[in-house]
Amino acid sequence: MSKIKMKVPLVEMDGDEMTRIIWRLIKENLLEPYIELNTEYYDLGLENRDKTEDQVTIDAARAIQKYGVGVKCATITPNAQRVEEYNLKKMWKSPNGTIRAILDGTVFRAPIVVNSIKPFVKGWKKPISIARHAYGDVYKNVEYYVPSAGKAELVFTSENGEVSRQTIHEFDGPGVIMGMHNTDKSIRSFARACFNYALDMNQDLWFSTKDTISKTYDHRFKDIFQEIYENEYKEKFEAKNLQYFYTLIDDAVARIIRSEGGMVWACKNYDGDVMSDMVASAFGSLAMMTSVLVSPDGKYEFEAAHGTVTRHYYKHLKGEETSTNSMATIFAWTGALKKRGELDGIKELVDFATKLEQASVQTIENGVMTKDLASLSEVPEKKIVNTEDFLKEIRKTFEGMA
Ligand code: NAD
Repeated sequence: MSKIKMKVPLVEMDGDEMTRIIWRLIKENLLEPYIELNTEYYDLGLENRDKTEDQVTIDAARAIQKYGVGVKCATITPNAQRVEEYNLKKMWKSPNGTIRAILDGTVFRAPIVVNSIKPFVKGWKKPISIARHAYGDVYKNVEYYVPSAGKAELVFTSENGEVSRQTIHEFDGPGVIMGMHNTDKSIRSFARACFNYALDMNQDLWFSTKDTISKTYDHRFKDIFQEIYENEYKEKFEAKNLQYFYTLIDDAVARIIRSEGGMVWACKNYDGDVMSDMVASAFGSLAMMTSVLVSPDGKYEFEAAHGTVTRHYYKHLKGEETSTNSMATIFAWTGALKKRGELDGIKELVDFATKLEQASVQTIENGVMTKDLASLSEVPEKKIVNTEDFLKEIRKTFEGMA
């Protein structure tokens, strides 16, 4: 059988620790035997980010802007301990933060649903997707440690020199302050991305902020969503019998837990960060959550929602066996390949990616899984496999499919 050919390169971003190991294994076992992989490779591993003074992350984001689709492995966001561990020149910023700031857009996270795995929340019957605004707020903030008593002010100087000045706080001793921002432009594209995604998924759209407390900042989000809904989406939603529902974030949390699921839940940047991990864990495992960043001009970056699985990596380094779940990383690849296939009109590539996703789910439904899913799966006969064997088992299922 000849291998599937690609026309336009896929932007491939390698990463760190256990996910870097999985990355190579997925390519060797599940992709390269079937596809003539055409990728433009960027090594976002921490050592290379340090070596290139993080230029490689910026170059990768620009390549996504150029080609339209990227796939990213999980990467370490350095903290003080990592600076020491890797002897870094600097505490480099989160690569995801850097890429999101360049591409803007919205991150959609959806659980990979497997029939034999029941969510921890008993009432949830349908998947819940989180739509996370990927620009601004606390991720693009300016922070200051106030060393001593003094006055903190919020000052804005307009283009033509008008100054607005408000007191934040009169400090009588040390403390902290933070300035953050968002733009109408980014909030508007966030809103449109969410309405479009909900229409695509045929699901209601929920949106939540804390506008009762944040009467200008969060309220602006609420107003923009409402205005765009009324002017551009109301008829389309009504035609499909779908609902746009706004509520306070605390009320949304309470309602989601009691719901049957089956909605897209739009969240501001930080809320989305927290809520997507909650939803992923409640659906079974962080390793069963897919993630895609969609920019306002239609560029896509696919990744797993989890991190580099450090604990397993240290075991692996000691020569011990690991059982790391590669589902979300496989789905990052299949999502990216499918999108590349759609954009370039390569049906074989779309079909291949769809079949690989089915084979991956089928393998778990057949009772073959990694350790993290063992206590969750309701299959009576379970076979718990190691990291590499799980991929080999998926390949067997794939080969056995018509
Ligand atoms: P993590 O997602 O790596 O692990 C959190 C927990 O979930 C751990 O108990 C881990 O064992 C388990 N887990 C996660 N993925 C799993 C998988 N595929 N199979 C089995 N178990 C899995 O997050 P963390 O421990 O908070 O962070 C580790 C590193 O990852 C940090 O350096 C952090 O900066 C980085 N990180 C990267 C991203 C990203 O690149 N998107 C996201 C989060 C964290």
